[in-house]
Amino acid sequence: MSNPVRVRFAPSPTGPLHIGGVRTALFNYLFAKKHNGTFVLRIEDTDQNRYVEGAEEYIIESLNWCNIPFDEGPGKAGKFGPYRQSERKHLYKQYADELIAKGKAYYAFDTAEQLDAHRKDHEAQGKTFIYNWHNREKGRLVNSLVLSAEETQAKIDAGEDYVIRFLSPQDETLHLKDIIRGDIKIDTNILDDKVLFKSDGMPTYHLANIVDDHLMEITHVIRGEEWLPSLALHYQLYEAFGWQAPEFAHLPLILKPTGKGKLSKRDGDKLGFPVFPLEYISPEGDVSKGYREDGYFQEAVINFLVFLGWNPGTEQEIFSLEELVNAFDLSKVNKSGARFDPDKIKWFNHHYMQEQKNDDLAMAFQKSHDQLQEIDVNYIALVIGLIKERATFVNDFWDLGHFFFEAPKTYEEKAFKKAIKADTKDIMGTVKSIINGVDNFEVETLQRAVKGWITENEIGFGKVMMPLRLALVGDLKGPDVFDIMFMVGKNETLNRIECLVNSLG
Ligand code: GLU
Repeated sequence: MSNPVRVRFAPSPTGPLHIGGVRTALFNYLFAKKHNGTFVLRIEDTDQNRYVEGAEEYIIESLNWCNIPFDEGPGKAGKFGPYRQSERKHLYKQYADELIAKGKAYYAFDTAEQLDAHRKDHEAQGKTFIYNWHNREKGRLVNSLVLSAEETQAKIDAGEDYVIRFLSPQDETLHLKDIIRGDIKIDTNILDDKVLFKSDGMPTYHLANIVDDHLMEITHVIRGEEWLPSLALHYQLYEAFGWQAPEFAHLPLILKPTGKGKLSKRDGDKLGFPVFPLEYISPEGDVSKGYREDGYFQEAVINFLVFLGWNPGTEQEIFSLEELVNAFDLSKVNKSGARFDPDKIKWFNHHYMQEQKNDDLAMAFQKSHDQLQEIDVNYIALVIGLIKERATFVNDFWDLGHFFFEAPKTYEEKAFKKAIKADTKDIMGTVKSIINGVDNFEVETLQRAVKGWITENEIGFGKVMMPLRLALVGDLKGPDVFDIMFMVGKNETLNRIECLVNSLG
């Protein structure tokens, strides 16, 4: 029997979680749930210089809002914790030492200035400096491959700064496997000897990531394409330790709306859509838009994100989370970049708007509008039932239905010209008395009375219905006129007609 599926989302808390990160988390979540596995959140905070206060909380809140919570992670104890790498600091050195003992890694004492000089030297000759087989033993670099064991030890004892580098092999071909990309061949001569352990006593991403994936018994690593170049090193590290490597799946890039280049925060700023799940306020006070605050439903965000790189192979576009868990399959994820289409997420939002309960929407609408504080929430819910078909966001409700709450203050100019004819005043006078005569003020009775009168007298429908709508709405828009009359009530309907008639002079 194979091991139970365990996957992890391993963000670094260096700022707000990009929407691409949410996609990675989602694919991990779906894969875990599909295989009755475990979804782990691991915070990769070994780079203290890039640590941003509040970023971890932001990541956790984002996953919770998206309804893709982790099973194990910070604050959710599991037997593989702790789940923050800074709290696992004591663990990593022994693994770096093990690689040195096995001859798979070595100490390097080159200072930042020395390395910089080598880089510049190479550049001057039109070459790129790579720290590897090519030059590491030529004596210009200061490492334990050129120094004797005694010299090396003396430097360490003297407290000189050092890093531990991986000894990447010469003239070998690595055969890597990726679930999405298939077989990948890599010539080791192009690889550099990556730093595994730094002079500040902290492991680099590569070492900590592999050690933790191993100790946390991760079976599948599902992450963004930007990590594909690290795959060769990661494979070699597993081999060097003698551990079984997990399976890997590198998700395609998320591209700009134009389809050219990687989606960035600037694209969002330029075109006015968020690239973060939640609003983010940086420690400097800069505010970045978030899908939640911009009025998107989490279901829409999830349904949209899953299509960035995956498709079910059918025409179905609307998926509940549960349906996604069933349908999701890593082998249906594409290699090629996925274009981010901000209009498509609106389309999903419009769809999920229709699925929300009117009562819930009414509460959200009431909260967001001062004018609604005193209004019965049940009435607001009825209004929403009449207008939500045309709404994408809760924020659209006021525009679509303000006339349910207040009489028109003005009449839209073009609508007025279109609706008002020489005989409108007389017609509206009669319509008013007909409406006044309707005792049972219901949609059907109103309809019967007004429409009956129109037909009997052979007046054009438009001649009556347009000014009536103008009186009620202030424009020629909105849901059914009889619904509006019923909702605002008899007195208010008569007042609004009266107002229009008076304005006609
Ligand atoms: N800490 C890495 C990141 O920030 C994790 C990459 C991986 O999943 O291996 O995305």
